[in-house]
Amino acid sequence: MHRAMTTAAIIAGLLGTNPSRAEEGQWLPEQLSELGPERLKAAGLELAAEDLWDGGPKLLRAAVSYSGCSAGFVSDQGLLATNHHCAYPALQAQSRPDRDLLKNGFVASSRDQELRALGGAEVDVLVAIEDVTERIRPAIEAAKSDADRVRVAERKMNALSVACETKHPENRCKVHEHGFGARYRLVRTFRIRDVRLAYAPPSGIGEFGGEVDNWSWPRHSGDFALLRAYVAPDGSSAVHSEENVPYRPDVHFRISPEGVGPGDFVMVAGYPGHTDRHWPAAEVQRHVEDVFPAVIDLYGEWLDLIERHARGRPDLQIQVAAISKGLANRVKNARGMLAGLKRMDLVERKRAFEARLPADLLAEAERLTKATRSTFRRDFLLESLERGPNLLAVALDAARLAREVERPDVARAPRYADRNRPALTELQSRRVRDASVQVGGPWLASVLGRLVEADLLPSSYGGSPKQRLALASRILKRTRLDDPEEVQKLFEAPDRTALEADDDPLLTLGWMVAAKAERAEAEQEAVRGGWMRIGPRYLEAVRAARAPDPIYPDANRTLRVSLARVQGYRVRDGLFATPQTTVGGQVAKHTGRAPFDLPEAVRNAAERAPRSPYADPQLEDVPVCFLSDADTTGGNSGSPVLDRRGRLVGLNFDRVWENIAGDFAYNPAWSRNISVDVRYLLWTLTDVTPAPRLLEELLDLEAR
Ligand code: GLU
Repeated sequence: MHRAMTTAAIIAGLLGTNPSRAEEGQWLPEQLSELGPERLKAAGLELAAEDLWDGGPKLLRAAVSYSGCSAGFVSDQGLLATNHHCAYPALQAQSRPDRDLLKNGFVASSRDQELRALGGAEVDVLVAIEDVTERIRPAIEAAKSDADRVRVAERKMNALSVACETKHPENRCKVHEHGFGARYRLVRTFRIRDVRLAYAPPSGIGEFGGEVDNWSWPRHSGDFALLRAYVAPDGSSAVHSEENVPYRPDVHFRISPEGVGPGDFVMVAGYPGHTDRHWPAAEVQRHVEDVFPAVIDLYGEWLDLIERHARGRPDLQIQVAAISKGLANRVKNARGMLAGLKRMDLVERKRAFEARLPADLLAEAERLTKATRSTFRRDFLLESLERGPNLLAVALDAARLAREVERPDVARAPRYADRNRPALTELQSRRVRDASVQVGGPWLASVLGRLVEADLLPSSYGGSPKQRLALASRILKRTRLDDPEEVQKLFEAPDRTALEADDDPLLTLGWMVAAKAERAEAEQEAVRGGWMRIGPRYLEAVRAARAPDPIYPDANRTLRVSLARVQGYRVRDGLFATPQTTVGGQVAKHTGRAPFDLPEAVRNAAERAPRSPYADPQLEDVPVCFLSDADTTGGNSGSPVLDRRGRLVGLNFDRVWENIAGDFAYNPAWSRNISVDVRYLLWTLTDVTPAPRLLEELLDLEAR
């Protein structure tokens, strides 16, 4: 560790800003004022930094995180706008073949018609952020070994979170790590646990274009949905109950029916999940050679298998819809990553850049990457298990929980801490609901083979595909983990001795794999701890070498703001993409066959769209989607897109194909995010699947 460097210097390093390009940067809200009023003004923002963030959230308080996505409050009655694909698991959970909310969409004509968003849907409203680096970093530096560094940091993070929740019982607290352990921030939120579905368009709108158009432009998906947040009558956070009342946010985004056009300023406020902007070349190479090919191979196989076994069975298709969508999204993303990283020649570019970094640091980073690569196949399989359509993940969590509860609460992996138990238990009910022997059997058979191959199970679980299928079916027929009540019991009262002696075949399997997974994690911790040791110095070296370009911490599911402009891009030589699409273009794509089967109501309304109040005067039609050069990634789905005065003009939902690899490097030439235009949302609620009550609420007609 570079001990001479103070924490203040590390923080200054991470915050060091002298941005030459306002469009690059997923800025922490605290950084907005550091960008300086001139920069914000030059970018096109007419609000002051203090209107957004004033030592605490102001307008940005209306941007919330929702189940791995982002969302924004759009009324004082707790109405939230997010993406259709973010509401997808909740829509799926409420669907049956005779009430298919995915296919047909959903309109709650009154509040009491709103449907519960099942499966652990939660909204976190930001309350406060506190820098706690000084309370964690010294212990990391004093740790005896690299593996110990992770444990020490996690203990401290857990303890700080628990202390914060004790002090603020109404809030949830979580410490987030920034930049390889260089900085820690304690984020306090008000968690809303009763979320309901208010409106979703049919899939023919919400996912129009499906996987064919996913991650690409031109795009015509109406990827939006409306939810409502509920709290107890006294305003406190509460689980779902009839008595609950709509949450009244302090602040919400006003909708601008005027929208935006080419050249206009926009700002994206949301919760990006993960980027790798500051990784060395060796890590990029590892992703190119190991990670993305493995994603394509494993998830591609699963996808194929799920589709084959659910074909012709509407009930099963609904059951696996969210899992399939997630896998398909990842496979296409991995293909785009490989294409994009090659196009950018990023490994070579990073190598050239690294000539400016200290050699000893790079050598250490290379050693860590090598260690990660040596166990990658095993680790990737283990981390992937929870993405499959099966109960194995329930068994794994049950086994792991029973082992973890023997440790003091602060020493456990955070997922198994007491404060996270309700979420863990809720997750299991979703898994039980989505599992089926018809699809789960063949999936488990395939996974057994891979687990044996990776030395995670004894060879008695292997054999020919036929033998494995017979074994998997036997396991799934005999297990009791398909019974929600039994699963509930396991998670409410975890008991290591009882579980170890349990002869449920799936639990036995879970127990064996969980033990190996725990050992694997300990090995991974040694590598993570190594990064924590060199992280601050490494980032400081990167910052110095990039100066005066900006450096901002990689995305980590905390609130970020990106400043941007509506604009197209040069796709390749001779081809320029314009930044807006229209209802006319959407109708022209209609073939009548999925994923291009636009509902009849859209096609009928389309004829009148040019005369709609939501038509764009320049386009002479209602706009559907628009491009801008905002700096976004996964997790930014559903992020409110705001205009120069902070009014909502769209919802971010994707990026263009050329920008998938943007997670590794921002490129002004093709880093473009895709948003659905709020005018399309308003038009749909007016003329396609009318929802006058919601429309009135959204437009806040009385206030105008
Ligand atoms: N469409 C992306 C996804 O589903 C989210 C937004 C993005 O990555 O740009 O992961």
